[in-house]
Amino acid sequence: MPRAIELEPGAHLRLVLSASVAYAVLALLSGLSGPRDTALAELWLPAGLSAALALRIGLWAVPIPVLGTLLSQPSTAALFSPSVLVVGLTHACATALLAALAPWWMRGQDLLASLRNLLAFLAAAALSALLSTLMAALVLPELRDWSLQGNALGWWGSEIAGVIVLAPALLCWIGRPAAPRLRELQRPKFLLLLLGCLLAAVTINLGVIKVLALRPLTLLLPLTLWGALRFSPAAATTANVVLALGLSLPPDQDEKLLQSFSGLESQELLELTLATTLFVGLVVLVVSNTRSRTSRQLAQLAGSLERTVSERTDELAQANARLRQLSQTDSLTGLANRRHFDALLREQWQRLAAAGGGDLAVALIDIDHFKLYNDHYGHQAGDCCLQQVAQRLKAQVRDGRDCAARYGGEEFVLLWSGVTGAQAAAMAERLLQDLRGRQIEHAASPVAAVVSLSIGVASVRLSHQDVSAPADERHQQIEHLLKQADQRLYAAKAGGRDRVCVG
Ligand code: GH3
Ligand code: MG
Ligand code: MG
Repeated sequence: MPRAIELEPGAHLRLVLSASVAYAVLALLSGLSGPRDTALAELWLPAGLSAALALRIGLWAVPIPVLGTLLSQPSTAALFSPSVLVVGLTHACATALLAALAPWWMRGQDLLASLRNLLAFLAAAALSALLSTLMAALVLPELRDWSLQGNALGWWGSEIAGVIVLAPALLCWIGRPAAPRLRELQRPKFLLLLLGCLLAAVTINLGVIKVLALRPLTLLLPLTLWGALRFSPAAATTANVVLALGLSLPPDQDEKLLQSFSGLESQELLELTLATTLFVGLVVLVVSNTRSRTSRQLAQLAGSLERTVSERTDELAQANARLRQLSQTDSLTGLANRRHFDALLREQWQRLAAAGGGDLAVALIDIDHFKLYNDHYGHQAGDCCLQQVAQRLKAQVRDGRDCAARYGGEEFVLLWSGVTGAQAAAMAERLLQDLRGRQIEHAASPVAAVVSLSIGVASVRLSHQDVSAPADERHQQIEHLLKQADQRLYAAKAGGRDRVCVG
C-alpha cells in the first residue's frame, strides 16, 4: 500500500516551490482554454495538481495554489488585483479541505486500489471545489449565477474536470519508482494509444466532428476504455492527460467547436463529455485493476495451497511409512514383531511355491533360565540382554529374504528362505557359538556361566503343487512347521538346554 511521501522539511519546501511553478504553468495552460475576459478556465488543470499533492503531502500542498496563482500573473500590477488573490486563496482553502477529507474517506493512499477510494477522492475533490466556488462567489459577483449558462457551474465543473483529468495520472507517478512505468510508455502499443488520443483531439478541435456527425464520446470513449482495459494505471491515465490537453488547447475554439449541440456552450459540453468519459474510464480501470490483482492473488494463493498440500502429502506419506514400520517392529529389540513375522512367513511360503518350489527353514530360540537372569540382575539388565541377543540374531539373516523376529518374551524366531534343514541347523549352531563368544555373564544359570540359548529347527521343501493348495491347507502346513520347531525347542530344553535340536 503506497504511503504519503515522508520528506525532510527542506525537501518539502523545494517540492512546494517546484509544484507552485508547475501550478503556474498549468494555470496559464488552463487560462488559454477558457474565456480570456473572465480569466476563468473551462478545464482547471491546476486543481488536479493541488488535489494529487494534497493526497501525497497533506497540508504542505495548501500554499501551492497561492504561490502558483501569483507566479502565473503576467505583470506585477496583476498581482495586487483582488480577483487574483481570491482565486489563490479559495483554491488554497479547497486544497486544505481535500487534504483533510480524502485520507479520512479513503482506505490507504492508492486512488485506483478500489472503487471506494476513487469515489471518495472525487467526492472530496467535488466538495472542496464547491467550497472554493462559494468562497469566490463572495467577492466575484459573476459567480453567483448557478443557472446552466451562468459562471458558477462552469467554475465548479472545470475544477472537478481538472481533478479527473490530471490527479489520477499524477498520483500514479508522484512518489513511485518511475522505471517500470517508463518502460510501459515505450511500448509500441502505447504510442498507438497516444496517436489515437492526439488524432481524436485534433479531429474534434478542427470541427471535423461536425462533418462526420459524430459525438465526441464516440471517439473518446473507445480510446479511454482501451487504455483502461489494456494498460497499466500509469500508462492509461497518462494517455488521458494527453487526450485532455489536446482537447483543451484549440487555437480558437469558440467558432469551430461542436456548434451542432445546443443548450450548453460548445466548449462546456466538450469538457463535460471529457470529464464523464474519463470518469467512466477510471471506473473501468479500477475494476479491471482490482480484477487482475484479485486473480494474481488467487493464483498466488492457489500456488501456496498446492505447495502446502504437497508438503502435507509428503509429511503424511513419511508418517504413514513410520507408522507402518512401528506397527511391524518390536520396540525393545528393533526386530520384526510376531505379527510381521507371521505375514512374512506366509509371503515367503507363497513366493517360493510360486517360483516352482524351494526350501524354507525356521528356528525357534529361547534364552535359557531368563527368569533367573531377571531375578539376579534386574529387569533393566534383562532388557539389555534381550537387545544383545537380538543383535546376534540379526547377524544370521540376509536382508530382504530372511527375517529375525521377537516371538514373545525371551523367545525369538528366525526365518530362512532357500535354506535346507541342514543349513539351518548349521546356522543355528553358529548362533550358539557366536553368543557364547560374547560372554554375557549369567551367574544364576545352572547350565553355563554365560547366557545360553535352546534352539529348535524345522524346515520344509515346497513344491509347485503347494501354490494351488487351498488356503486352509497352506495354513495347516505353516502351523505344522512352527509346531515342529516348537517341539524341537522343547526337546532341546529337555535335553539339557544350550543346544540345537533339528529332529
Ligand atoms: P527356560 O529356561 O525354561 O526357558 O526358563 P525361563 O526362565 O527362561 O522361562 P520362563 O518362561 O519361566 O520365564 C521367562 C521370563 O522372561 C519371565 C519374564 O519376566 C521374562 N521376560 C519376558 N519378557 C521380558 C522383557 O521384555 N524384559 C525382561 N527383562 N524380561 C522379560
Ligand atoms: Mg520361554
Ligand atoms: Mg527361557
